[in-house]
Amino acid sequence: MIDRPTIEKILDAAQIVDVIQEFVPLKKRGVNYLGLCPFHNEKTPSFTVSPSKEIFKCFGCGKAGNAVNFIMEHEHLSYPEALKYLARKYHIEVVEKELSAEELEKQNERESLLILTAYAARQFSENLIQSDEGISVGLSYFRERGFRQNTLKKFEIGYSFEKRDAFTKQALDDGYKQDFLIKTGLSIQHEERVFDRFSGRVMFPIHSLSGQVLGFGGRILKSDVKTAKYVNSPESEIYHKSRIVYGIFQARKAISKEDRCYLVEGYTDVMSLHEAGIENVVSSSGTSLTQEQVRLIKRFTQNITILFDGDPAGIKASIRGIDIVLEEGMNVRIVLLPDGEDPDSYSKKVSNEEFLKYLKDKERDFIHFKTELLLEEASDDPVRKANLIRDIVRSIAVIPETITRTVYIKECSTRLEITEEVLYHEVNKLRQQASFQSRNKYPGPEDLPVPPPVIPKPVEQDVVTYYSEKEVIRLLLKFGSAEFEREIRSEDGQEEVTTVSDYIVREIVSDDLLFDYDTWQKIFEEFRFHTEQGIFPGDKYFVKHEDPAISRSSADLLSEPHMLSRIWINKQTYVETEDMKIKDIVPDAVLKFKSDKIQSRLKEIMTQLKEAAKTGDTERILALQKKDQNLRIALKMISDKLGNRIVL
Ligand SMILES: [Zn+2]
Repeated sequence: MIDRPTIEKILDAAQIVDVIQEFVPLKKRGVNYLGLCPFHNEKTPSFTVSPSKEIFKCFGCGKAGNAVNFIMEHEHLSYPEALKYLARKYHIEVVEKELSAEELEKQNERESLLILTAYAARQFSENLIQSDEGISVGLSYFRERGFRQNTLKKFEIGYSFEKRDAFTKQALDDGYKQDFLIKTGLSIQHEERVFDRFSGRVMFPIHSLSGQVLGFGGRILKSDVKTAKYVNSPESEIYHKSRIVYGIFQARKAISKEDRCYLVEGYTDVMSLHEAGIENVVSSSGTSLTQEQVRLIKRFTQNITILFDGDPAGIKASIRGIDIVLEEGMNVRIVLLPDGEDPDSYSKKVSNEEFLKYLKDKERDFIHFKTELLLEEASDDPVRKANLIRDIVRSIAVIPETITRTVYIKECSTRLEITEEVLYHEVNKLRQQASFQSRNKYPGPEDLPVPPPVIPKPVEQDVVTYYSEKEVIRLLLKFGSAEFEREIRSEDGQEEVTTVSDYIVREIVSDDLLFDYDTWQKIFEEFRFHTEQGIFPGDKYFVKHEDPAISRSSADLLSEPHMLSRIWINKQTYVETEDMKIKDIVPDAVLKFKSDKIQSRLKEIMTQLKEAAKTGDTERILALQKKDQNLRIALKMISDKLGNRIVL
């Protein structure tokens, strides 16, 4: 448990734009910031961040909240995990309450695994630079290859001792549980023995977007050992190979700034490019890209450039996997490195300027590249050429944008010496195939009618009181501390100011009314408590509330900039801004809330009357009729007060 003062310190320090910008590129638009929503697939930005309100809101999918809610949602973290993440970011020491044995046990397993991997990364990197074995085996390997100290540090490169249980033993001595050592894959259990997975390897930690160590890649340096050159962490609660790309944490800002991401094969390729001053680079760790990995990159840029070594067999094997990038509507380019060179070797052979110039000069469109590569191979063989055309058509067919497809069809028609009509026919045939449709889960806008953005409502929205409850809470949040009326008290001649919050609380409490929606009732209770204490907590208090349901709901309501009272919209006489109308809007909203409550009560009575009629319970019928009558009188009074402003 994190104590309250620490939570407050964290919430005060967390600048929402700063927090979100780390994951979503934002552009300033007036007082707010705008970007592409990370929670749903969109092409036009509807994700808004308000630094003054300290909230975000997506007008496409409806997600809203404060900085902590964002981290929870985005990084799939629990509330305390998200707070700790922000504490790390802003260098705030987290003071935790003493945990009971039971609480300790309950502590999130995921969090424990992450603590362990962070510990392991620290140990390995200490081994590399501080131990004799680490220096002579590991560090010398990197030094010989010209890696600088700060690059090793940036990537938290380490070394795992050769002794088969060195790390496991040390971790156990330092109090880490064997269970977690096995779950992270750092240790392997074989019958009674537990030993290290990575012994004798240099270690490449694999970081999450936010810099947490999720897993490791380990490379053996000795050439005489009969074992795989690279070993990776197995899949675990925290490490999912298909969802992360190596280097994204170190690259994310540069990718967004350069609006381009370079993709290389290995860990050291990524590091080499950093050394050459190119920081917008990631690696898929030698396997073909997955849709999740492509989407991770796509959050920062639409442009991906893949670096290939000049080995034709390798290129052909990798080329198939690239359709998945096209499918996401990204622009794919290829750079072929000179014969016998990989990004690591070539970047070291030439100067940084030459290397960058090479990448820029030699960059080619993927489909052109693929067409020529395959054409060369097919030469005059008609069967091979037919296969080649099918292959190219497949790549074009997955591209979501119609215009892009059209351009490619035109170009390929010339290169392949085949009519555009035939290519169109083939492309359309493929696009219509069910197998393709289901694979392409997020078709482009031309392929599906685009529904207008809908802000999801709670499922209970059909309940009578939904809108009027929502409006009362919104007014409390937005205008709670505003002056509602000012009166001279007759007894002492003192001036008394009633705030909107005073007024609403008084009205609702005096009629003993409750909100149907839990979160709104909770917000109301807090207003009531604070109003009775004579203090107004302010909208920030709710936006930063420790109950994520309250903070989300508050952010959602506060981010509806132009939502007017329904009453005024109906009347279509609305001219002034809302705060000039407080004296009308607030009482109207309260009356509407009351009348909705009465109407829902009348509905209940109607049902009860029917039941009573069935059983012939005359006494009950009379009692219910009396209630019904009283409620209708109350309703009439409200309706008179509201005048003709609303139809009840
Ligand atoms: Zn969204």
